[in-house]
Amino acid sequence: MHTLNDLFTETLKDVYFAENAILKALPKMAKKAKSDELKSAFTEHAEETEEHVKRLDKVFKILGQKPEGKECPALKGLVEETEELMSEASSPDVLDAGLIGCAQAVEHYEMARYGTLCAWAEQLDMDDAVELLEETLEEEKAADQKLTELATGGINEQAEAEESDQDESNGDDDEDEDEENKDEDNKTGKRKRAR
Ligand code: FE
Ligand code: ZN
Ligand code: FE
Repeated sequence: MHTLNDLFTETLKDVYFAENAILKALPKMAKKAKSDELKSAFTEHAEETEEHVKRLDKVFKILGQKPEGKECPALKGLVEETEELMSEASSPDVLDAGLIGCAQAVEHYEMARYGTLCAWAEQLDMDDAVELLEETLEEEKAADQKLTELATGGINEQAEAEESDQDESNGDDDEDEDEENKDEDNKTGKRKRAR
């Protein structure tokens, strides 16, 4: 790797690997999600992701290269964290909130990559590539925003409503409990930070 053009090509391969890995992960996430809205958000983004791969094919073509992926450890790690969550979360509502968090980490990774690729393509005067990459960047941003809306529009609240095992055994007189726990909460600052 010697030139900006080389760097651009290498990063394109990284994103190509990432998009293909995301394409495999999203249907699993859709299957695991409890909320119908979240399910369709994942399914719709999987369809968009197919287009992202096609756009990358075109950018490779502009470069005169054949499309090729290069293992992206960062994205692999994010997918691993998602798999960990899916095997560990025992409450469906908490799982949904966690899935959104994981998906947003992926979208932000993509936004970072596409933002950089756009800037490099611009520097390299590759106008057609800039256009293709920008189109995808906008869709990643929209996907991220959609996830925020789902999270703050009810899924986080439902996740919070999930009772812990301890709450269940203590019965449901929440107000008394809140009073008693005030001291401890203030010490840890947990409650304050969480709200
Ligand atoms: Fe994408
Ligand atoms: Zn990477
Ligand atoms: Fe995406």
